[in-house]
Amino acid sequence: MTLVAPGTCRFCGCHGESCTRSDGDKCWWANSTSTLCSAEACLRAEAERARRAKAALPPPPRRPNRFDIWDEQKQRRNRRRRKGKAA
Ligand SMILES: [Zn+2]
Ligand SMILES: [Zn+2]
Repeated sequence: MTLVAPGTCRFCGCHGESCTRSDGDKCWWANSTSTLCSAEACLRAEAERARRAKAALPPPPRRPNRFDIWDEQKQRRNRRRRKGKAA
């Protein structure tokens, strides 16, 4: 991952309001940290980067199997029983 100073587009390296978009507007900052300008190519690159980052995420933690659930229910019952005794 490259470190980009705020105020510099991480993709095209512009400093804001320097790229010309296809609609004729100058680019603006597309994120709050000012590291992504709104040039179409940069927005596309950012979308692609986000898509890849999402795909690279580790798989979600495994769902508890039915034995875990059974064990949890048992523990809950025991807790309740202990609580009842104490009260
Ligand atoms: Zn840019
Ligand atoms: Zn730009």
